[in-house]
Amino acid sequence: MAVEDSTLQVVVRVRPPTPRELDSQRRPVVQVVDERVLVFNPEEPDGGFPGLKWGGTHDGPKKKGKDLTFVFDRVFGEAATQQDVFQHTTHSVLDSFLQGYNCSVFAYGATGAGKTHTMLGREGDPGIMYLTTVELYRRLEARQQEKHFEVLISYQEVYNEQIHDLLEPKGPLAIREDPDKGVVVQGLSFHQPASAEQLLEILTRGNRNRTQHPTDANATSSRSHAIFQIFVKQQDRVPGLTQAVQVAKMSLIDLAGSERASSTHAKGERLREGANINRSLLALINVLNALADAKGRKTHVPYRDSKLTRLLKDSLGGNCRTVMIAAISPSSLTYEDTYNTLKYADRAKEI
Ligand code: ADP
Ligand code: MG
Repeated sequence: MAVEDSTLQVVVRVRPPTPRELDSQRRPVVQVVDERVLVFNPEEPDGGFPGLKWGGTHDGPKKKGKDLTFVFDRVFGEAATQQDVFQHTTHSVLDSFLQGYNCSVFAYGATGAGKTHTMLGREGDPGIMYLTTVELYRRLEARQQEKHFEVLISYQEVYNEQIHDLLEPKGPLAIREDPDKGVVVQGLSFHQPASAEQLLEILTRGNRNRTQHPTDANATSSRSHAIFQIFVKQQDRVPGLTQAVQVAKMSLIDLAGSERASSTHAKGERLREGANINRSLLALINVLNALADAKGRKTHVPYRDSKLTRLLKDSLGGNCRTVMIAAISPSSLTYEDTYNTLKYADRAKEI
C-alpha cells in the first residue's frame, strides 16, 4: 500500500542533542540511515559513523535492543526543518481533509523529546500547527471560485481528565455527543484568525494558558495534552443545485509525555491504569492498539475510557487519516524512553 493510501502514517523525528547531552560523555544511540530507516543502539562501529561519537566513552555493557533496525514512513534526522516535517506529515493529509475526512496528527514521545517544538515550534520557527493552518488557508483561497468556506479554530487542553479552553479560560468543559455535529465540547470557544500573524498570536496566547509552560521539562505540562483543532465547512457555489455542506475537522495534538506510559505490555493486552499514569494517554494507546488488532473486523474500541479518546472518537479509525510523529532524543541518557517510543511507534504501524 502506498504511504498516501494508508490510514495511519508513522514518522520519527530525532532532535539534535542538547548541550548537556553533548557534554555528557555519552554516545548517541540513534543512527539515521536514510529517509525511512533508523538503527537504535547501533554496534560500536570500527570505522565510526560520522557524528556517532560525541563524548567517546562507552556506557558499559549494552542493554537490550542492541542494534535494532526500524523502518517508518519517514525518519527525520536532527537536521530536518519544521518545513521538512510539515511537508511529509500533515501536508500529505490535507487533500483528504479537504475531501471531508477528519484527520488527526499526534506528537508522541517522552518529555524533552521534541513534541512541543514539532507541533508548536518557537518564535521565528513555528511548528506544524501553524504551517498546516497557513497552507490550508492558501488552498482554500485557491478554490474560492467554486466553494464558499468557513474556517474555525479551537485550542484546548486535557489535564487531569479535565478539559480546559486555552483561548478563553474558564471552568472545566463537558463533552457531549451530538447526533448531527458529532463530538461537541460544551462552551469551547471558536476563533477565526484573519491572518497568519493573528493565528500565531492565538497559538502563543493559548500556550501561555497551558497548565504550565510547555517547555519547562519538569512541569506538570508534561502531563497535559494540547489539542489544536481546525474546522472547515465547505459549500458549493454552483447556483440552483442543492448545496451540500461538508464539514471536516483536523486535530493537531501535543500529547503528554509518554515516560510513564511506557511500561512493557504484551501485544493486545490493555495497559492498566496505575497511580500517576496519564489516563488519557493510556486510553489513546489502547484505542490505537484496538484499531490495529481490529483491522476492519468488528472489535470493541474503548473510546469511552478517557477525555482525550472521547474527544477524538470521530477522528480516529474508520475513514480518518492519522499521522503519528514519534519524537526522540538521540542520547543514551534517555535510552529507555527512546527504546519504548520506537517500540510503540513500530507497533502503531500495524494499524
Ligand atoms: P517535549 O515537548 O517533547 O517535552 P520540547 O519540544 O520542549 O520537548 O523539546 C525539548 C527541548 O529541545 C526544547 O528546548 C526544544 O526547543 C529543543 N528541541 C526539540 N526539538 C528540536 C529540534 N528539532 N531542533 C532544535 N531544538 C529542538
Ligand atoms: Mg512539551
